[in-house]
Amino acid sequence: MIELHLHLDGSLSKEDIDYLSKKNNLPYDENTPLTVNEDIKRRGAYFTCFDYPIALMQDEESLEYATYSLYKRLSKEGIFYAEVRYAPSQQIFKGLSQEQVVQATIRGYQKAHKETGILGGLILCIMRFHDFTAKNIDTIEVARKYLGKGVLALDIAGDEERYPFALFQNEFELIKKYHLPFTAHAGETMGPENVWAALKAGATRIGHGIHAYQDPSLIDYLVRHDILMEICPSSELDTGCVSSLSEIHLRDLMKAGVKIAIGADDTMVSATNLKREFDLLEKEYRLTDEEIITFWKNAIDHAFCDEPTKKTLRKKLSALLK
Ligand SMILES: [Zn+2]
Repeated sequence: MIELHLHLDGSLSKEDIDYLSKKNNLPYDENTPLTVNEDIKRRGAYFTCFDYPIALMQDEESLEYATYSLYKRLSKEGIFYAEVRYAPSQQIFKGLSQEQVVQATIRGYQKAHKETGILGGLILCIMRFHDFTAKNIDTIEVARKYLGKGVLALDIAGDEERYPFALFQNEFELIKKYHLPFTAHAGETMGPENVWAALKAGATRIGHGIHAYQDPSLIDYLVRHDILMEICPSSELDTGCVSSLSEIHLRDLMKAGVKIAIGADDTMVSATNLKREFDLLEKEYRLTDEEIITFWKNAIDHAFCDEPTKKTLRKKLSALLK
């Protein structure tokens, strides 16, 4: 299996949380949610589930451990390529530089790669927050420095409702100037206009984008320009973007020719993993084997890794399908 859309801070395991809370002497407060429940959904408080894991990863050792542990777990689950994303600007509250943060997570990935053979790398998220330009610029500079050395691409994450794309023009210009691969969370809680904005900003993949179907000209554009949609079924339900998986319009999008890959988004927050995400879709849409294989192929074609790695992934996939 191949995972292209997974957040480190939303995907720690219960064991990771226990280990890191002891290590950091930061006891778990029962009132701090880690997984979405009905109350959180009702209050629209999805993002609060990330607060505690983020607080647990503010030093190099914890960041390295969390990344290592996640990749090990993914490998055990049969995932042989994973792009893991997080925002380095959220891991500097105890004094680390963003570069130190990124170095630590690269070490974590490399250690797991050595032990298990899992391939992949990191996507660094710039954040939609008020007055965040300087921190985002720093993230972009670090991404540029480590591109191809553990970092694969950039992403923009955070609340798209409160912070429109127009606020981040400086960041997008720099990403374009440096020719950095770029995916964007867009059209998740907002409509097609945000997917258009992400494309204008230079994104070649769209995180979620489930509201794109509302605009036929946008669908046409996604198809003609070979843009990948990274759809994360449980997460779309947990954020309240859809109330049932039928609202993702998966088959309509596939029939229209949109390239789609499936991601788990946040395994802890949504109490899921990639296999479960496929199970949910299979149940809702009665996917054929051919359709499932198409998701894997799309993921490889649009992965942010280099061509030799894609070749390796295609070989691994065809070996699995024999
Ligand atoms: Zn996401």
